[in-house]
Amino acid sequence: VDTREPLPEWICSDPTRLRQILMNLVGNAVKFTERGGVSILLKTRTGTSGEKLLFAVCDSGPGIADDKRRVIFNAFSQADSSTTRRFGGSGLGLAISQCLANMLGGHLELESELGKGSTFTLVLDSLDELRCAAVDDVDVNSMSRQELESDKKIMISGRILLVDDGVDNQKLLSFLLEKAGAKVEIKGNGKDAFDRAMEEWDGGRAFDLILMDMQMPVMDGYEATRLLREAGYEKPILALTAHAMRGDREKCIDAGCNAYASKPIQRKKLLAVVKELLEQQKNSENDNHPED
Ligand code: ADP
Repeated sequence: VDTREPLPEWICSDPTRLRQILMNLVGNAVKFTERGGVSILLKTRTGTSGEKLLFAVCDSGPGIADDKRRVIFNAFSQADSSTTRRFGGSGLGLAISQCLANMLGGHLELESELGKGSTFTLVLDSLDELRCAAVDDVDVNSMSRQELESDKKIMISGRILLVDDGVDNQKLLSFLLEKAGAKVEIKGNGKDAFDRAMEEWDGGRAFDLILMDMQMPVMDGYEATRLLREAGYEKPILALTAHAMRGDREKCIDAGCNAYASKPIQRKKLLAVVKELLEQQKNSENDNHPED
């Protein structure tokens, strides 16, 4: 990700929809690019109709033929049936993204050269009055500037063992946790996590918290948690599951987790739960050793 100054310090928009559009553009870019890379450039553009904020997602993939540039923004349309057979997809992503971009007061632009790559750019118009999409579940309009800024300030401290088999999740979660102040070590399955957590526990240097994905190869999070508890492991374990299904929470708690968060991860919620578990843990240790 690259940024080109000047950029606004903050904007008022709908973070859920913004993220959805960017995930779609970046997802497509990664999906279709076999060689080279994908980058995102964030910059502003000043024109006659005011200042605009641009998110340009640039890839070195197959590119899109001239006659397909318009149709791929239509629902259920794809540029090339042979790539579609290989990569799958619904042909809905860009149509939805274009629609959401319009609702945010903007649009998508496409530049592409066949065989060289494509750049899809989300353009948000008139920076000074960026609108929020009229959706019920996110009401950022009602959030004060103070609330928006306080979002940045959840700080945590402690050593966290992050257990997740997905490289993207490992990166995203460790980034969030480290930025909030934690030290993070990563394991990719329940078996490795069990071994490492017990090694530190037995050595008297236990992790302050384990963030445990539940669906993993080799040994899943349920089994790893159960084994840890059976072995007498007492530190907090926070379960992460891929989907919020009814009964998931009970399954995680039954296995011995202290709390539960479902993906997709919401940064603020996740940090709040992590912080609470770390504080509970500290308080219970102080209760046990009041003289410390
Ligand atoms: P899909 O779910 O099929 O990917 P989209 O609406 O997101 O649906 O994309 C429509 C079509 O546009 C894709 O099937 C693909 O042919 C083309 N396309 C989208 N992004 C890219 C890209 N970065 N490079 C090449 N082709 C792309």
